[in-house]
Amino acid sequence: HAKRIGKSNFQFYQEQLPKKVYGDTELETLLRKAIEREEFFLVYQPQINAITGHIDGVEALIRWENNIYGLIGPNDFIPLAEETGLIIPIGEWVLRNACSQAKQWQVDGMKPFSVSVNLSIRQFYQDNLPTVIEDILTKTELDPQYLVLEITESMAMDSTIASNVLQQLKNIGVKISIDDFGTGYSSLNYLKKFPIDYLKIDQSFVQDLSTDKDDREIIESIIMLGKKLGIGLIAEGVETADHVDFLKNLACNVLQGYYYSKPIAAEQVPGFIQESAFSND
Ligand code: C2E
Ligand code: MG
Ligand code: MG
Ligand code: MG
Repeated sequence: HAKRIGKSNFQFYQEQLPKKVYGDTELETLLRKAIEREEFFLVYQPQINAITGHIDGVEALIRWENNIYGLIGPNDFIPLAEETGLIIPIGEWVLRNACSQAKQWQVDGMKPFSVSVNLSIRQFYQDNLPTVIEDILTKTELDPQYLVLEITESMAMDSTIASNVLQQLKNIGVKISIDDFGTGYSSLNYLKKFPIDYLKIDQSFVQDLSTDKDDREIIESIIMLGKKLGIGLIAEGVETADHVDFLKNLACNVLQGYYYSKPIAAEQVPGFIQESAFSND
């Protein structure tokens, strides 16, 4: 019996899912077949340069449309994909599609902008990630400087392996971003050891900044930390003009959130750039 998972609010519908779905082999079976059935697609959320107001890049975010469960958001299947190891082929699919799309936009004559791709921990620690990425960049003919890999603080924790992987990735020429920054429990040691290009200030700090002084202080501290270390700053979950003002005043480099745009289909990206003031020409 068909049960749709809502398009607009995954959190809400997640609670409505029958409990058996989780840890259920049924969902796993469906997930296993999802790539060959072409049930995944990517949406892209614009990232706006706070100074120029132009688009700096987009973040690729995966969606899964299944004929039984409907549209499923990543929070509802990435953990299972991670648990089962399916994240490896799924993650590769994401990388290949995002890079190929970024190249296509350039071929279509758009001024180049970057594409950010989220990596999961299992993907990050697979043996051959740098080789996989190098191969995808070669095949899609995307210049490595336009690929940004988003990892989280916890992935950077095992410093010997992580620093090896990160160094290899840097040698390829891709950029590295720390996602959800400020929510992990890791030491800040890795920031000086590792070649990090961006910190993404977690949306939980941005959300209530208008009313919560502590959130404002935390954001300010993260921005100062990034500036002192020469690391770029991206704020996520930017929803209001208040958020924009506050972040611009602190010279946060890049802003991403519903205030500018929700994640949109690849075909909508050129229109978003043209029709708005966000053109990077
Ligand atoms: P994330 O990488 O931190 O992505 C940001 C999430 O916040 C996205 O949710 C995005 O749609 C949402 N968002 C963006 N702007 C706003 C805003 O202004 N307000 C609010 N309330 N939310 C906003 P989404 O697409 O559901 O993705 C959730 C998480 O799933 C991502 O968090 C990321 O950790 C993971 N994810 C998404 N795509 C992939 C993927 O291809 N591979 C892997 N491994 N993980 C992915
Ligand atoms: Mg992300
Ligand atoms: Mg994030
Ligand atoms: Mg997140």
